Amino acid sequence: VVLSRFGQHADIETHNGEVLRCNIRRTVSNLVCGDEVIFRRAKVSEGDLAGVIEATEERRSQLTRPDFYDGIKVVAANIDQILMVSAVLPEFTPQIIDRYLVACEDMGIEPILVLNKIDLLDDEGLQNIEEVLDIYRELGYKVLLVSNKSEQGIDELKQQLVDKNSIFVGQSGVGKSTLVNTVLPNADILTKQVSENSGLGQHTTTVSRLHHLPSGGNLIDSPGIREFGLWHLDVERVTFCFKEFREYIGGCRFRDCKHLNDPGCLLIEAVEQGKISQLRFDSYHRILESMADGRAGARAPR
Ligand code: GDP
Repeated sequence: VVLSRFGQHADIETHNGEVLRCNIRRTVSNLVCGDEVIFRRAKVSEGDLAGVIEATEERRSQLTRPDFYDGIKVVAANIDQILMVSAVLPEFTPQIIDRYLVACEDMGIEPILVLNKIDLLDDEGLQNIEEVLDIYRELGYKVLLVSNKSEQGIDELKQQLVDKNSIFVGQSGVGKSTLVNTVLPNADILTKQVSENSGLGQHTTTVSRLHHLPSGGNLIDSPGIREFGLWHLDVERVTFCFKEFREYIGGCRFRDCKHLNDPGCLLIEAVEQGKISQLRFDSYHRILESMADGRAGARAPR
């Protein structure tokens, strides 16, 4: 499995836990963290290289990010679940959650909603947020309420990570780094070791890296892949990625129904009948509006 990739080299871990730095054969394109590979041991002339990566196995999933220059870029492979972190502070915004949910549905990777900093909520605040979170629970999404400060929900979060390949995503300031440090107390040490041995310190801080979790499972982390956008999707795809909309798609009176104020729109009817949440429907339109003017990122494209 690829722990980390730096240009034409990658650190891989073998089945028995040996970590080897390898050259990547030119025919192997797009190698990313989390890829499973076939390699050959070989004394490669340069420094501490111990083998050559010959081929990659088929991926179970791909974490992709729209890239302004490359179109869509794969940034990690074989991810089982995306922990989408939001927080009480800065402001709790369901619209951002919906953007990430669209991206997860598009990639076919299970999202877990993590609401952090619940230590900052009083009873009333908690009740208000629970009402919103119920919308997501009813859609079948798993929701975890946590706090790094009071440690509420942290055991459950750790349990959720066992035996899976996970990644934390979410906007800046929601507490992702703190959560990573909580579940992976030795991550910094690992990064430092690699930097010292290879002289690639600068790169190791920006590339994705696969870390083993103490209770089994892996965490792939990199500041660069914690945020992603939607502007590469088309309107039909976004509509499909609101999973509760699916059963109504295609049934509207007009084939090109915009689901906005068109007569005979089944989605609008479903909202009026309380079968689809108004909040989700509003989010949907805000995403479409932002796609129209090029702002549809969970964060704007860099
Ligand atoms: P990131 O940008 O998502 O990586 O967020 P950080 O981990 O850097 O955290 C942003 C700020 O939120 C820091 O000042 C943290 O101390 C604070 N923070 C993180 N977790 C919690 C929490 O559970 N409760 C409170 N009250 N603050 C937190």
